[in-house]
Amino acid sequence: MNLAIVGGGIAGLAAAVKSYQSGVEAITLFEGSDRVGGKIRTSWFLGHLIEEGPDAFLTREPYALDLAALVASDNDFVSPSASAALIGRSHRLYRLPKGLVLGAPTSARQIIQADLLTSTERASALAHFFLRPHAELSTDNLGLATRRRYGRAVEDYLIDPLVGGINASSIDHTSMEIVAPAIAKILQSRRQSSFSRPTQPARPPFLSVRDGLESLVAACTAFLIDRGVTVKVSTPVKALEIQNRGWVVRTSDGDQLFDAVILATPPAQSSDLLRNLAAPAAELLNGIPTSSVAIITVGLARPPVRIESDISGILSPAPEKRLITAVSFAHNKWPHWCEPGTGLLRISVGRRFDLRHTQLSDDALVARVLDEASGLLNEKLDPTETRVTRWPSSFPQFLPHHRKRIELLQETVTSLPPLAFAGAYVGGSGIPTCIKSAHRAVDRIIQTTSDT
Ligand SMILES: Cc1cc2nc3c(=O)[nH]c(=O)nc-3n(C[C@H](O)[C@H](O)[C@H](O)COP(=O)(O)OP(=O)(O)OC[C@H]3O[C@@H](n4cnc5c(N)ncnc54)[C@H](O)[C@@H]3O)c2cc1C
Repeated sequence: MNLAIVGGGIAGLAAAVKSYQSGVEAITLFEGSDRVGGKIRTSWFLGHLIEEGPDAFLTREPYALDLAALVASDNDFVSPSASAALIGRSHRLYRLPKGLVLGAPTSARQIIQADLLTSTERASALAHFFLRPHAELSTDNLGLATRRRYGRAVEDYLIDPLVGGINASSIDHTSMEIVAPAIAKILQSRRQSSFSRPTQPARPPFLSVRDGLESLVAACTAFLIDRGVTVKVSTPVKALEIQNRGWVVRTSDGDQLFDAVILATPPAQSSDLLRNLAAPAAELLNGIPTSSVAIITVGLARPPVRIESDISGILSPAPEKRLITAVSFAHNKWPHWCEPGTGLLRISVGRRFDLRHTQLSDDALVARVLDEASGLLNEKLDPTETRVTRWPSSFPQFLPHHRKRIELLQETVTSLPPLAFAGAYVGGSGIPTCIKSAHRAVDRIIQTTSDT
């Protein structure tokens, strides 16, 4: 089989590795930009390697660890040195009560301990908790399910900042099945009045690579090239066409014939490539919204005074109306990112329905977030260096019943030559989930081609 993979982010790279392992004879990966890795970007900042995109991956599912072990034997994994989170409400910072699951309480005690909620909000949350243990679960809308179970304040100030923060979303009209299956589980088990907390795995829940996540990308690329896979950068695929029972892939290098295609491009680009071939598929892809975010990296001569060393960051709930969604204390979380004794902040802005940052110049954005961060920390911040990294349309949004949409998407292309989809929008934005989607896409292609 001669396979084309379009898109050289982690999903495309993982699809190429898995295809090679599965015995696909000829593999070509097309990447439109001048570098592979997509949203994984490691760079130098004040003499140290930092991340401008993702900074770690979850280890609960083994996909990222397995890929790293396959392509490099000398991985130097590193886990966050700090993990406690604060919530910024009004002019105060509050520690999250221990034991929440993605912000969701599993006991009345956690609600009582949530001192960031007013006493009225806590009373209302407790009333929901005790009086509505059988809250409606037939919904896949995370906001609705948690509002019914815990009330509005828990949704706004505990769950949304965590889950919405990770996904640049609002948890209302977000698929619980995709973004917070752990919350679905506790709501479910609460019905049976027995939630058993998952046993802690032996390894840390998050890991990264000391030389940066882009070193994993480089190892994947070297693995592929060494094994005869063609990796073409600066080669955007302009169009796909059908010829006989295969595909023509059109790039500025000319037309090339393939037996099968894996699209590992974001939803809008995948939609464009299918518009003239499979209008219903293009429409389903177009119906997946995305959020734009930016990361502002800030170097400080010394760490903020009030922040203890176990604190990894501050989350800013949407009702607070700040541009900032989170401030991560990289000097605590990843001490190897900066000189000892200095401070390093990674400030995130942007979420669904909040595009304010896109209307500001880099200078204005830096000034605005420094002002907000100074307010949160109650301390004037005087940066030694700043960097703005913009990620337009970067976070796919998972509307309720997203999984059905993806099943339908795959069904609508069954009459075409072998075609499968991989990437963050398929089943979740996390790196391991992107890799999992790539494995499934390869399995599907192999299944389809062996059936014909
Ligand atoms: C700021 C930020 C922080 C994040 N933090 C984390 C984190 O801590 N942990 C975590 O697990 N995840 C995190 N994520 C999410 C994760 O990084 C992404 O979901 C994942 O990297 C997406 O991989 P992908 O391969 O699906 O897409 P992408 O990385 O977007 O790759 C798609 C590729 O397709 C290429 N392309 C597009 N059109 C064409 C075309 N026509 N022809 C050829 N190539 C094309 C693009 O240039 C791009 O390289 C974060 C994301 C961002 C933006």
